[in-house]
Amino acid sequence: MNKRMPEPYRIKMVEPIRLIPEADRRSALAAAGWNPFLLRSEDVFIDLLTDSGTGAMSDRQWAGLMMGDEGYAGSRSFERLAESVQRLLGLPYTIPVHQGRGAEQILFPALVERVASDAPVFISNYHFDTTKAHAELAGARTINVLTPKATNTGEYADWKGNFDLAELEQAINQVGPANVAAVVATVTCNSAGGQPVSMANLRAVSTLARRHGVPLVLDGARYAENAWFIQQREQGYRDRGIADIAREMVGLADVFMMSAKKDGLVNIGGLCCFRDDEELFRAVQIRCIAMEGFVTYGGLAGRDMEALAVGLEEGLGQAHLDARIAQVRYLGDRLIAGGVPIQYPTGGHAVFVDAAAFAPHIPPDRFPGHALACELYLESGIRAVEIGSFLAGRDPVTGKQELSPLELLRLTIPRRSYTDAHMDYVADALIALRERADRITGVEFEYEPPMLRHFTARMRPAGQPGAGPVAVPRPAAPVVTPQPAGA
Ligand SMILES: *Cc1c(COP(=O)(O)O)cnc(C)c1O
Repeated sequence: MNKRMPEPYRIKMVEPIRLIPEADRRSALAAAGWNPFLLRSEDVFIDLLTDSGTGAMSDRQWAGLMMGDEGYAGSRSFERLAESVQRLLGLPYTIPVHQGRGAEQILFPALVERVASDAPVFISNYHFDTTKAHAELAGARTINVLTPKATNTGEYADWKGNFDLAELEQAINQVGPANVAAVVATVTCNSAGGQPVSMANLRAVSTLARRHGVPLVLDGARYAENAWFIQQREQGYRDRGIADIAREMVGLADVFMMSAKKDGLVNIGGLCCFRDDEELFRAVQIRCIAMEGFVTYGGLAGRDMEALAVGLEEGLGQAHLDARIAQVRYLGDRLIAGGVPIQYPTGGHAVFVDAAAFAPHIPPDRFPGHALACELYLESGIRAVEIGSFLAGRDPVTGKQELSPLELLRLTIPRRSYTDAHMDYVADALIALRERADRITGVEFEYEPPMLRHFTARMRPAGQPGAGPVAVPRPAAPVVTPQPAGA
């Protein structure tokens, strides 16, 4: 039967959601300083802000919560988690952390300390925002060397998350291998649109890093989704199991760090694991005790580790990944059919609307993706998030606004939480917005925090302090010139 398979679960418990009236949405957004991050989640109908910690746990995971061993040290739940990591990923050294950034804050200073450089650098296909922040807090600079294919949103490519290998090698040589604290492979590449990295690319990156004596860190928040894309798209992997492919990916790296709130299928949790660098493992353990908690809980309750041990296994399930990625694609296909420009093909966890193409009259420093997020909430009660120049922030040295190579609106799909009927509502709302896209105005800062600004900034419609959106004439269709990644 050549039919799209439905979700491999039935729903045992529901959480009511409701759409508040338009006037209430308008006042809620104004109270939130035109920043959907500051909305109350109760005022949101369908929440596509993030897929981080927002998924549904299974009955086995909920049962695991009851089995947690809350012993401060040597918890049985930690042993079970470490055993899952060893069995599924082949990694013998596990440090649990409270979430992905917990791993960053204990790992990155240890990596920087090891290079003993005045100008330490991290190089990645694309640093996630907290990853970049923790590199900078550790005194390092970050360089992104993403394939230029990623910026051409309309054109199909299998591996838009790949490293540009020539640029990677050039960057290592330019800063000098002794100054590179680590190469960070982000899989899937969140900032490029949840786009996968091929095994061939990862292998080449691993070889290059090893040749220069630089450690390779796998930032594997969505490593299972990446393994699924390798299985579906890369020659020689069609008959391989997901866990098998994931193990091969992880085996190319020295360190595996993970926000388990994504492919770990838990509401809170993270991992920082090591293959054979026992010295680094010990150094990071010491930081864990100071920053996260004792080495057998790392900021998690015993029950959280129990749920994660189960979630790691379920997250690598074939039927789970088939259904999940098919749902993301379903939303993408509906948007394409409705004339909404998106990053194509869709990635693993989200559909990314090309806001620069959707509202070409809004300049990058008026944040088209963010403006679109506000309008989408007003239109439909849906919460989405900008991934573009608003998120990119300012250059830490010059203070200049960094221009993102892409201006995107991310519709992030929580795992196992919404049905295709919700996806239809989302698609219909965006298609309706497209009809009046030329009347959407940009936004500007009312309050701009010095760092990680998209979480707490307060905004207003540009040029209209305190007022609602105004009509802006649409200029002639622009030529979209992709900018180099990391600009
Ligand atoms: C979410 C994420 C992180 C940070 O993890 P948190 O759990 O949010 O702290 C790091 N890297 C990537 C690629 C992520 O998606």
